[in-house]
Amino acid sequence: MTSGTIVIDQERCKGCGLCPTVCPQHVIHLLDDQLNARGYHPAALVDPEGHCTGCGICAVICPDVCITVYREARAARRPVMA
Ligand code: SF4
Ligand code: SF4
Repeated sequence: MTSGTIVIDQERCKGCGLCPTVCPQHVIHLLDDQLNARGYHPAALVDPEGHCTGCGICAVICPDVCITVYREARAARRPVMA
């Protein structure tokens, strides 16, 4: 199991809406109330509970290479010994 996070370059983002449609965790949203310098509503990670797995699908789909993915392995759970 892995956990992850992403960083979106919001000034490069053209608000195409592709990345929110492919994220299996549904943690990417377009910011309808914000515009970047090019006049687009940028995508943002909204993940207060840490559901991003770092799968990287969003970065693969982005046509403008705006998304950087960071991923780390979660510590393996060990059984508690009596
Ligand atoms: S890395 Fe995967 S889970 Fe995380 S935001 Fe991108 S598509 Fe969603
Ligand atoms: S796929 Fe890329 S350009 Fe399109 S909304 Fe997502 S970050 Fe922005």
